[in-house]
Formats: sequence, C-alpha cells, structure tokens
Amino acid sequence: MNNDNITQLMADFPLIKNMVNLSEVSWFNPKVTSLQEGLPYVGLDESNIKDASDRLARFAPYMVKAFPETAKNNGIIESELIEISAMKSQLEQQYKVEIKGKLLLKKDSHLPISGSIKARGGIYEVLTHAEKLALKAGLLELTDNYTKLFSEKFRVFFSQYSIAVGSTGNLGMSIGIISAKLGFSVSVHMSADARQWKKEKLRSHGVNVVEYNQDYGVAVEQGRKEAEHDPKCFFIDDENSQTLFLGYAVAGERLKQQFDELHIVVNKDNPLFVYLPCGVGGGPGGVAFGLKMAFGDNVHCIFAEPTHSPCMLLGILTGLHDDISVQDIGIDNITAADGLAVGRASGFVGRAMERLLDGFYTISDQRMYDLLGLLNKVEGIQLEPSALAGMLGPIVVTNDIEYLNRIEMNNDKLAKATHLVWATGGGMVPAVEMQKYLSKGCY
Ligand SMILES: *Cc1c(COP(=O)(O)O)cnc(C)c1O
Repeated sequence: MNNDNITQLMADFPLIKNMVNLSEVSWFNPKVTSLQEGLPYVGLDESNIKDASDRLARFAPYMVKAFPETAKNNGIIESELIEISAMKSQLEQQYKVEIKGKLLLKKDSHLPISGSIKARGGIYEVLTHAEKLALKAGLLELTDNYTKLFSEKFRVFFSQYSIAVGSTGNLGMSIGIISAKLGFSVSVHMSADARQWKKEKLRSHGVNVVEYNQDYGVAVEQGRKEAEHDPKCFFIDDENSQTLFLGYAVAGERLKQQFDELHIVVNKDNPLFVYLPCGVGGGPGGVAFGLKMAFGDNVHCIFAEPTHSPCMLLGILTGLHDDISVQDIGIDNITAADGLAVGRASGFVGRAMERLLDGFYTISDQRMYDLLGLLNKVEGIQLEPSALAGMLGPIVVTNDIEYLNRIEMNNDKLAKATHLVWATGGGMVPAVEMQKYLSKGCY
C-alpha cells in the first residue's frame, strides 16, 4: 500500500479515520446475505464438517488415554454453556441500556488441554496430520481403536516428523502440547507479545520455542521458512488453513445440541446473536461457519477486535482482505489481548465468510480489562482480556437501531433473543498473572 492508495481509501471509507484514531467503532455489514446465497463462496459444506466431527470421534479414545482430563466428556473437547444473568444486569446498569433476551457465555476459555478456543482448531489439525501419516504408512486403519496411537511404537514413528507453527501464544499452546504428546518434534515460533508463562509451559512439555522481537506476521513467516527447508516438517498455516477452520466449525452442531438440552429455541422469532473475538480470523470464522450451518439465517455473527488490531474489519470493509494491514494505515497492532494482536487478516476467512457475517466492532484494551474485572466480580469467572472482547457485543447491537431495522428485528423478536458471548481464553492463566489483569480493571 502506498500513500496515495491510503489517502484514497480514507476518502472512500470515512470509518478508517476513526479506526486510525483508535476510537471504538462498529460497522454492520451491508454485504451480509442469506446462507443460501453466501454458502457457495465458502467452498466448504456440511460434509466437510461431518468429516471433521467423525475424525474427532475416532480420536476420542486416544484423547481419553493421552489426556485423562478429557475422560469426563469421553475424549471430546467441548466447553460449557452457561447463562450469565448477573453480568447482564451489570452491563445494563453500566451502559444504561436494556439488553432484551438472555445473555449466555460459551466457556471455550476452559476447554481442556490448552484453555482456549485453540483447543478446537489447533488440536484438530495436528490429529488430521497424524492420522494421514499413520494411514499412509499402513500402521493404522480408520476402523481401528485409536488408543493404539498412545504407544511407544507410534511415538517413535511420529518422531521422524516435525511440526512448525507461528503464534501469539494460544495456538502454539494447543499445537505444541498435542504434537509433543503424539511424539512429533515441534517448534512454536512466538511473537514478541507472547506471554512468558505460555513459553515456559510449552518448554516443560518438550516443545522447541523460538522467540521473536516482532509481531505475529513475522513469527508465522519464520515458521513457514523452517518448514520449507524440511520435507518432513509440516507447517500449520494459521493464515490460510481450511483444516483449522473445520476444527472450529464443529462447534456449531455441538452448540445446537447444548441449546436443545437447555430448551433454548432458535428460529425466526427467537434469534441468536453470537459475539466472537477475532485475531487472524480462523477461530471466529470457523465457528461462525459451523453456527451458520447449524442455525441458518437465524444466527447473527458479530466479530470483535481490539482498537489496536482491527485487521478483519479493515480487510472486509475495504474488500482488500489480506492485501492490507493495520500498520498500512498507521495502527500499531499492540494490544494486551493475546490472540488478537494480528495486523493482517487471514487471506481465506474474510473472502469466504464476508457475506455471512453481520458486523464488526472494536474495543479498547481498557474496556476489556474493565469487563474482565466486572465478570470476575459478579459471576466469579476469570478470563483473559481477549475473551472479553465479545462482552460489549450486546450493547453495540442494542444501540444500533439502523442495523436492527435492516435485519427486521422488532421488539417482540428481541425480547426472545439469545445473546451469546464466546469466551475464547483464560482458563490456564496462572493466578499471579490473573491478579495483574484484575488490578487493571476499574471494578
Ligand atoms: C486465537 C484467539 C482468538 C481469535 O482466533 P483467530 O483464529 O486468531 O481469529 C480469540 N481469543 C483468543 C483468546 C485466542 O487465543
């Protein structure tokens, strides 16, 4: 992007000026359309999700053995869904708005193994790779009991191969832990903002952690390079991977089942709004895809990004996707929100999903800390800052009359709406770190 292009962009999209000023902004997507019209652009469908779901089921017995903490859910990595009505009242008081309908929290923050949403996509992609290698070597058949992978024989087999990934922290945690457990030699290329405790935890699992002074984009590039030189090294490409995306997408059908169990209805008169923190886009994009396949046009997905890293909003607003970065418009990509410090969006997710996403907003680091403190105070739930990005969503939506009118949301429907905040991380933050987060909030 040269300066002339940037000047033209600012003229074409006045919102960019507010983004550059680091104001909190929201943008409801005029390009949003029905699932039927939007789906062909995704290039994936139900059969791909089913394939992912079946693969996770095949691995479930292995997971039970390798990670006994997954045994209570029979080796399926899934999070709790809870209602947070005390938080809802607090939000209503603080922001002086009435949030119609219910407020729920999806606790991916407390997923086993890595304590973040990355336990969906990251682990799934490593399992897919391991399965492929083992099938090809004739050591495994799809009908086998996969507990056989939890053995010295398989660890020795996988140890000939390596895995590399670039990460701001949480993806590295998921991929590092599962890869090392299977026996792979694994390198995690960590950006400057990655937390020390995450690096230490990975090293304690035998993962090779490579540190950089630059941001996520550089860490990913280095990981990619390492893999290029080594035919036995598999690079997990967070910026483009459809496999990661599908690992996340399985969440849709699982959530639908949880809704059924709680007798929560989603249909034309009972809409569902879901608020997803977005970094490079694979996590929220994959989950949104799964939600669309599960709930169709009755689910409205809204992405939340830090004011310092609004890469997906920038990419979709301008239609430039990964051809533009927040640094191009003079934003620094420095945020306390782990996992969201991404300057350039995925090349694949925005293009695939832009017709199926209702909106985007940005949130300041301070507000994430404030909401973190509030949630801890009234619900006793502790999350990392990024996971609070979605908590402002019900306020942003409620205040945007124009958007609500456009999607034909009247008060009757809103009164029966479900607002779901996707809590993406925080379950494994050490107590001392959590105290630091809590001390930064205003509550
Ligand atoms: C990675 C991450 C996200 C966002 O996922 P992307 O795939 O990067 O968009 C959100 N919250 C947390 C805590 C994360 O670690």
